[in-house]
Amino acid sequence: MRYANSVVDLVGNTPLVKLGPLTEGLAPLVLAKVEYVNPGGSVKDRIALRMIEAAEREGLLRPGGTIVEPTSGNTGVGLALVAQQRGYRCVFVCPDKVSEDKRNVLRAYGAEVVVCPTAVAPEDPQSYYSVSNRLAEELPGAWKPDQYSNPNNPLSHYETTGPEIWRDTEGRVTHFVTGVGTGGTISGTGRYLKEVSDGRVRVIGADPEGSVYSGGTGRPYLVEGVGEDFWPEAYDRSIADEIVAVSDAESFAVTRRLAREEGLLVGGSCGMAVAAALRVAQRLTADDVLVVLLPDGGRGYLSKIFSDGWMSSYGFRSDAGQAEPEATVG
Ligand code: PMP
Repeated sequence: MRYANSVVDLVGNTPLVKLGPLTEGLAPLVLAKVEYVNPGGSVKDRIALRMIEAAEREGLLRPGGTIVEPTSGNTGVGLALVAQQRGYRCVFVCPDKVSEDKRNVLRAYGAEVVVCPTAVAPEDPQSYYSVSNRLAEELPGAWKPDQYSNPNNPLSHYETTGPEIWRDTEGRVTHFVTGVGTGGTISGTGRYLKEVSDGRVRVIGADPEGSVYSGGTGRPYLVEGVGEDFWPEAYDRSIADEIVAVSDAESFAVTRRLAREEGLLVGGSCGMAVAAALRVAQRLTADDVLVVLLPDGGRGYLSKIFSDGWMSSYGFRSDAGQAEPEATVG
């Protein structure tokens, strides 16, 4: 019989799929690494597992301990599912702008969610940073993973994501494109691919226009999970050969095309990464193999990116990039 002993054993070993219509007319082989097939639905399951295992080894997290993290998204889901399997309590702290649906996903896994006002400064005692720091100090046996500074975030990618790409492309990958949030994915995967290829693999970061990685000041953008207004410790500045800035409009147009033309219902940071990948692919040859990482699925964005009303309320065209919708009869 072939089965996993725990859902945790299903983290990683995600597949590569060749992109079709979106890459029409382009010379290189463009492969997407599909991270939504992880059990928690995103690439963040990888870092959750590695951060928890390291904390157990280092004695920071003991049986019956509590994980406290300011997160509302994918990292929370990854932490919640690993914690539940290992018997830890989870307390997540999030600002009240986070949708009720997202909070309920965390609660569904058995996590507790503390909601804080969005409209206060980070140093305010009510802010979600202050509250998570206070809970981490006050709760007995509490441990705060802090994905932005935890070295096990990039290390999880050095040990799993990078080797998987190398193995599955039989060492033929020439370019790796990924979005940058905490910087864990690009730093760990990029470092592995550079080391194993003697520096041959080019590493390209995709970043929302306005974020610091592509030279911005941190001005707001709508794509979620990527871009920063500060430089996290998890980001290794020596890895990326290039950073490509992508607008919200282009990120969302490509996200919608991925669903309609490639059958990949994925999140907005995936559209952003693929938009950057397509730009890079234009200057490559048929000998090149480009791998682009797709961090999460699209279910969490149905009332945003996949809603025509939401798109038009921000001035984005909801028909942008669709392949002749009139012609799709029957
Ligand atoms: N996309 C999404 C949806 C994410 O949640 C994240 C993680 N913040 C990323 C991309 C970026 O990954 P990383 O933090 O490893 O840079």
